[in-house]
Amino acid sequence: FAAEILSVYMSNRTFTMIKPDATSKGHTGAILDQIIKAGFSIKAMKWTRLTTEQAGLFYDIHRERPFFGELVDFMSSGPIVAAILEKDNAVADFRKLIGATNPAQAEEGTIRKQFAASVGENAVHGSDSDENAVIEGDFFFSKLERY
Ligand code: GDP
Ligand code: MG
Repeated sequence: FAAEILSVYMSNRTFTMIKPDATSKGHTGAILDQIIKAGFSIKAMKWTRLTTEQAGLFYDIHRERPFFGELVDFMSSGPIVAAILEKDNAVADFRKLIGATNPAQAEEGTIRKQFAASVGENAVHGSDSDENAVIEGDFFFSKLERY
């Protein structure tokens, strides 16, 4: 019974970042507007900037990838917006809203199609599983900073 409640709760939340390319181009407001209009409610949000070390920790799973250095340099190059979002089926619905990693392959109307310039500088992050949504939210927010 407890596990059932936990799984229902978890599938309702995801974690996002508006990445430095999008904040620096002034797309933060437009992206947040689309997220809210798509039915997500914001449970926590902050404007911050990652060090290269922090970006490396967040993307630790990609450490052995050839693009890791580029990714870490990019993600620490300017401010980001980190947020925890809530909606039914949050992880899958948010991945649909942002579109494919490579904006060239992203569907029309998706956030990456509209705002991303390349596979690396792709405007937004979205968690890929309920488990990672919790881990990533915990990376940025204390219990006091979310509800
Ligand atoms: P996501 O889950 O759609 O964000 O994609 P991945 O988990 O595969 O990759 C994480 C992030 O690494 C992407 O969002 C990009 O910012 C970056 N990335 C992925 N592939 C490449 C690549 O081929 N080159 C560069 N420079 N960055 C990449
Ligand atoms: Mg990913």
